Amino acid sequence: MKCQEKKRYNNNLRSVNVIQVNAMQQKADEIVKTLKSKGLRVTPQRFAVYANLLAREDHPTVDQILTNLNQDAPTSSQATVYAALQALREVGLVREVLLEEGVSRYDANVGLHHHFRCKCCGAIEDIGWDTFECIDLNKLRSGLKAERYEVTVQGICDRCETKSKV
Ligand SMILES: [Zn+2]
Ligand SMILES: [Zn+2]
Repeated sequence: MKCQEKKRYNNNLRSVNVIQVNAMQQKADEIVKTLKSKGLRVTPQRFAVYANLLAREDHPTVDQILTNLNQDAPTSSQATVYAALQALREVGLVREVLLEEGVSRYDANVGLHHHFRCKCCGAIEDIGWDTFECIDLNKLRSGLKAERYEVTVQGICDRCETKSKV
């Protein structure tokens, strides 16, 4: 958990009331329902990994998910997190994002979208599908049959830009 997130989390804890507990329960029920609807057996690992991915937008690696899950109680191993990710991936709830050679990152946003990758800190964030004008796949040379595409924009994010100015 990032520092700011941790602060937010602690603040949330402080103001926990019945409504929030109900909302959390509702979210948990929704996750269980989603897993079941895909024919997945609900295991604590699958639940934890999917809930973790849904709550973040930073496209974490296996190790980042593992660190995050083990913060409260060290119960997960890299193998169990990886197995849970594979199961979620097979039923289409999670996708693998490969923007760096040899580094698999995971995304619970399985709808169409593009990505921005900061070459400074490696952070990846989603770009809405409608951000770019339609790309004309008919311009491909004949003989190439397009199935899908997405755009990866490389650059420097505002967090790194601010840091370099200080
Ligand atoms: Zn950055
Ligand atoms: Zn994404």
